[in-house]
Order: sequence, then structure tokens, then C-alpha cells
Amino acid sequence: MKDQIDILVSLQQIEIESLSVKAHLCSISQRLDILNCSQNELKQRITDETAKIEELRKLYRSHESDIKQNQVMIKRSQERLNSIKNNREYQALLKEIEELKRTNAATEETMIDFLNQIDDAEKRTVTMQEELQLLQTDILQEQQLVGVETETAEKRLKELDQERLKISGKIDADILKLFQKVQSQQVRGNAVVPVQDAVCHGCYVNIPPQMYNELQRCDKLRMCPNCQRIIYWKQS
Ligand SMILES: [Zn+2]
Repeated sequence: MKDQIDILVSLQQIEIESLSVKAHLCSISQRLDILNCSQNELKQRITDETAKIEELRKLYRSHESDIKQNQVMIKRSQERLNSIKNNREYQALLKEIEELKRTNAATEETMIDFLNQIDDAEKRTVTMQEELQLLQTDILQEQQLVGVETETAEKRLKELDQERLKISGKIDADILKLFQKVQSQQVRGNAVVPVQDAVCHGCYVNIPPQMYNELQRCDKLRMCPNCQRIIYWKQS
């Protein structure tokens, strides 16, 4: 029976390590996911900023052509001024020219504002491009690391699977069944636990003295009366 308990403990160790290797594999791929997510986000922000710059440039050009049109009109009106004899018409045309000049001045102000906005957006884009380059270097390095770590973890997992197969064959079928049943009933912790100084290491409750004495014989499987785990005696 001592042998069977030892094998159960080994089997349990293998399963614990398998779970931890699987969790590690999961966290490895998550690391890369997070970096890729940041990369996509940054690329989107660069695309948005570039579209914004393009839109501002379009607006700038359209304002520029408005100014040119107004300048042509101003020039034409100024030429017409010389030929007008009627004072009222002359004043009206003067007023029209003034109005056009005011409009152009206001448009120029707006264009300066556009230029400033374009400048700011371009600076932001340059910064983001630099960030993106750094991030892409990080991703490349991380991909290599992840590749190596994944390979190591998967290799270990295979070894553990083989060990598990080998060990499972050495366990009495009924004992294995009991072990699996106890395992499935445990929300947390191990299915096989040592008892040291009469204390169950699954629930940390004392087991009855009579049972503790019997447990030291190692002649049959016993369960902790408190937590229903399989227990074995361990010398203190
Ligand atoms: Zn217990």
C-alpha cells in the first residue's frame, strides 16, 4: 500500500506541474496578444491623425482658392472704380471692395489656424511612428522569446504526459478510480495529502488518535473524516 500511495503522490505532482505548465503557456500567448493589441491601436491612431491632416490640407487649399478668387474680384472692382462717375455707385463699389478685403483677412486667419493644427498633428504622428517602431522591435523580440518558451513548455508537457501514462499503469484500478473521484470533489487543493503529527494537511484538522495509529501501519487507503481526502502518514 505504501508503494501505491507513493505513486498516487507522484501522479498528483505530475498533474499539478501539468496545470502550471498549461497556465504558463496561456500567459505566454497573452503577453504577445497585449503587444499586438497596442500595435493595432497605435496604427489606428496614426491612420486617424493622417486622415485629419489630409482633411485640414484640403480645407486649407479650398480657403486659398477662395482668397485668390476674391483677389481677382477686388482687382476688377478697383479697375472699375476709375470709370465710375456716379458718387453713390462709387461708394457702393468701395464698400464691396472693403468687404472682400475683410473676408480675405478673416480667411487668412483661419488658414493660419489650419497650418498650426496641421503642424501639431504632424508632430503627434512623428511621435506615434517612433513609438510604433519601438513597439515593433519589442514584438519581434517577444515573438522569439515566446517561440522558445512555448517550445520548452510543450516539450515538458509531453514528458509529463508520458510520465503520467507510465505511472497510471502501475496503480491499482480501484485506487486510481478513488483518487479521481476525490480529485473531482475537491474544489481546491490536493486529493492525496500527508498527515503529520495527527494533522491532516488538506484541511489542517486533527484526525482521531485511533485512526492516526492505524494510519501508521500503511496497510490500506484511509480518508480524512473531515475533508474526505486520501491521507497517508508522514513522519514528523
Ligand atoms: Zn482533512
